[in-house]
Amino acid sequence: MTYQTINPATGNLVKSFETISDSALEQALGLAHSCYETDWRLRTIADRADVVRNAAAKLRENAEEFAQLVTLEMGKLIEQARGEVALSANILDYYAARADEYLKRQEIPEASGAYVETRPIGVILAVEPWNFPYYQLARVAGPQLMVGNTVIVKHASNVPQCAAAFASLFDSDDAPKGIYTNIYATAEQVGRLIDDQRVRGVTVTGSERAGAAVAERAGRNLKKSVMELGGSDPLIILEDAPVEPTLENAIWGRMNNTGQSCVASKRVIVVGRERGGLFLDGLVARMGALRAGDPSNAETTLGPVSSESAMHGLLSQIDLARKHGAQVAVGGGRVDRPGFFVEATVLTHIEKTNPIYVQELFGPVISFYVVESEAEAIELANATPFGLGGSVFTADLERGQRVADKIESGMAFVNHPTWTRPELPFGGVKNSGYGRELSELGFGEFVNKKLIAVSPVGSPPPGVSEAG
Ligand code: NAP
Repeated sequence: MTYQTINPATGNLVKSFETISDSALEQALGLAHSCYETDWRLRTIADRADVVRNAAAKLRENAEEFAQLVTLEMGKLIEQARGEVALSANILDYYAARADEYLKRQEIPEASGAYVETRPIGVILAVEPWNFPYYQLARVAGPQLMVGNTVIVKHASNVPQCAAAFASLFDSDDAPKGIYTNIYATAEQVGRLIDDQRVRGVTVTGSERAGAAVAERAGRNLKKSVMELGGSDPLIILEDAPVEPTLENAIWGRMNNTGQSCVASKRVIVVGRERGGLFLDGLVARMGALRAGDPSNAETTLGPVSSESAMHGLLSQIDLARKHGAQVAVGGGRVDRPGFFVEATVLTHIEKTNPIYVQELFGPVISFYVVESEAEAIELANATPFGLGGSVFTADLERGQRVADKIESGMAFVNHPTWTRPELPFGGVKNSGYGRELSELGFGEFVNKKLIAVSPVGSPPPGVSEAG
């Protein structure tokens, strides 16, 4: 039994779920495929939009129940869980509203009679993580369902109730069975799904380890994949950035979701020694003031991390950092209470030789650096294998944009930590993966951009010069 709700704020096992049997998995895939072939891809955009909009409406109507489930299963602070529910509904609505425009025929003016249609390709398999249990699903369901694909989702094993709750949004009279299927599957079953000809693409959000395993299998089967993997985003503070708002943004950027966000501002890099001290004091004071408690209580400011293994993993990374010379400016240990709480921590004196210099720390830990120049800040920002997001804080917006452009990442923000909205493309470069979700780009990952070229009846065959 691997799919379990364990409340990370208490450590108590709440509920366990059976892994899907092979025969039920075959049935689910058969249904998703026949739904695609005989129904969903043939529906009008307006019909599909009704189904997706209804799902968004249901999510809003039951927002509190959905938010409480997130907090129960992965420990997100309740206000942030409510925010995630609202964002997820907005993503579904965004795609329902934009599909018409994104699916428009594209004429090719230079080639008379030729045009490109955007067509669905079939069943898409999504492997998703626990850290934003609905947002991650909305990023897939919104565009894939609107383009006419059907979706099978293997969610993380520690958020089974969130997974089922999201799937229930598509349990309605207007939605054909098979457009969206949640499965409690093993990695081995995921592998077999990728091998199956009825699955036409696979998307993963998660660690490099999971991404590499799935991408390898997809590659062997010549299937398109999208990889949204880890990150260690830099947050660069230039000499002219105002202190208070920048500190507020750095804390928000790092501590949203208790630091368990792929685009969290994991590394704070201050340009200038003197201001370095000022920013370190500010971060230490703010991190030290966070109070651990029940994440369903609105007064709590430090939630648990998602699981016992996540807690132990993070504590070992802090120990490793220390052993290699890092200093702990605040925090550094487990919070003395039941559940999986790690103190809000700031690490300094992290040298290039320290293993955590290039690692992702997935929790409430800031890696703090001071450098002498903008060039050094950029070099440090780009010194990890990751390239997801990044941000730069400055009063000079032109300089900010120049620096943002030099950060090797899929996203870079000026005067705001990396963040997400339905309209903004999301994804990375280097080991952070490939492909994009959200925006029009997210709509185009699993489609057939199909050329149709029409010549007048009786046209002669193309000449060698024309064809060549
Ligand atoms: P993880 O272990 O890779 O889990 C993510 C998903 O992959 C889960 O559903 C997991 O299933 C599944 N999985 C793991 N190994 C697999 C395999 N060999 N074959 C098939 N499925 C497999 O990730 P995590 O550590 O829980 O999540 C945090 C990571 O995700 C961080 O690195 C974070 O930065 C990244 N992330 C990236 C983005 C982005 O958009 N770029 C967004 C959020 C998170 P089980 O739960 O059953 O193991």
